[in-house]
Amino acid sequence: MGSFNIKIISTETAGDLQKNKTLLSKLPTSSLTDELLSHALEGTPMIKFGNGSPKIMLTSGIHGNELSPQIASLIVAQTLEELILRGTVFMIPFAIPYATMESSRRFKGVDMNRSASKKGYLSNKILKTAQNLKLDSLADFHSTKPHSNPGVESIFCSEKPSPQSKKIAEHINKATQSKIICHKKAGNLYQGALEDECNLINIPAVTCEVVSQNSRVDQGSQERSCLQMKAYLDYFGIVI
Ligand SMILES: [Zn+2]
Repeated sequence: MGSFNIKIISTETAGDLQKNKTLLSKLPTSSLTDELLSHALEGTPMIKFGNGSPKIMLTSGIHGNELSPQIASLIVAQTLEELILRGTVFMIPFAIPYATMESSRRFKGVDMNRSASKKGYLSNKILKTAQNLKLDSLADFHSTKPHSNPGVESIFCSEKPSPQSKKIAEHINKATQSKIICHKKAGNLYQGALEDECNLINIPAVTCEVVSQNSRVDQGSQERSCLQMKAYLDYFGIVI
């Protein structure tokens, strides 16, 4: 119990999350939260829970102004800390602490969910980390404002080249009724989304969206994001 370790995967992204008062007011109070906030001052923290196979990763905060999944990550992390797991769960709750501090969609003017294929960008570092860790899967959690694209609670996946992506989406859909948005082939619509780039290197991946205004946490949105995360963990039978 209480066994985890934290590693910094990028230092250029460092930020003081305590400056984002909306985020801070919703984070669970725990020693894990305190530790993550202090590690975020050094860069992008990645937590590891458990050991062995399967090995999966949950990421959030690729868009810094999407707060609900970043809060959900910490709630789920707190649960994982107290459980015995079958396999390894890596979590990156705040992909870009600096962007989250500023509540900004972009980092250095760049949308990190369109640049995972470009060397040197944070999302590309996550992709390389996923590859080096030989992950069995990755799920990237976002929030979408009403009447935008997609604007509804949803799960993005693709049929090719990693068909398991769709299976994972179907499992999450059963548990949450989030709408499945499935593309025939990863990366066809646009390039550089973390999910697509993972699928293209045969790491089955999905993107999950809950509905909330940007830079805010609409009521219930972090709970919906938690449900998606738990359904994802459940697909891999992580929690015994
Ligand atoms: Zn997003």
